[in-house]
Amino acid sequence: MPEALLQILDLSVHYGAIEAVNALSLNVAEGEHVTLIGANGAGKTSTLKALTGLLTASAGTIHFDGQPLHSLGAHQRLQRGLAMVPEGRGVFARMSVLENLHTGAYLRRDTTAIADQIERILDWFPHLRRRLEQPAGLLSGGEQQMLALGRALMSRPRLLVLDEPSMGLAPVMVEKIFAVISEVCRSGMTLLLVEQNARLALQVTERGYVMDSGRITLQGASRELLEDPQVRAAYLGE
Ligand code: ATP
Repeated sequence: MPEALLQILDLSVHYGAIEAVNALSLNVAEGEHVTLIGANGAGKTSTLKALTGLLTASAGTIHFDGQPLHSLGAHQRLQRGLAMVPEGRGVFARMSVLENLHTGAYLRRDTTAIADQIERILDWFPHLRRRLEQPAGLLSGGEQQMLALGRALMSRPRLLVLDEPSMGLAPVMVEKIFAVISEVCRSGMTLLLVEQNARLALQVTERGYVMDSGRITLQGASRELLEDPQVRAAYLGE
């Protein structure tokens, strides 16, 4: 079996004496769409912060494309193709929608391909096309989430990591965002999706991990997790 694009092995993350992540192992192969689900406080965001370099792991290793990541900063990880859309989005409020999209491509020099890709992203997000020249801070929460996703795609990542894209959005917006996430998956992007909305996350991915109190408690094919009585009771409200 070829080596996975992302390999997290026995990762632990601490905040002082608090252990947020405990010996977590997780893989994502090239072209795969994988979800990490778990309740509030399970340790999902802490895992992602260690992955992108915002937090230092207290134990374990993370390899991306066969290379260890621990000595690389967040910027170098992005250069290697690891792009994350954080919880809370973080678009540049005073910059226009178009300028925000361009910032996602700042490592690229291929101007024609950049223009083509902006067109494709705007086809996916017609809301953004109508507001291209407006400051991003004036967009609704859902539109900002779309913009953050579009901006991450502009870097042409090898692995796209989404932290709770449905967070705080109206159901109709969540539906739209997930429709685009499905399209992004179909376009061949490798995805790691972190979500509290377990049903949607398991519907758009092939494989999933369930996290509880810092540990992986269950893993398997998403369709099997959707049928799992424990998952249904704890995460699907059934
Ligand atoms: P959420 O869905 O709320 O983002 P999560 O699954 O992403 O939850 P984390 O944010 O990773 O969970 O938190 C995991 C644990 O670490 C929780 O017990 C949380 O209280 C704790 N924690 C998170 N950030 C800090 C911090 N800066 N200082 C101390 N403890 C923290």
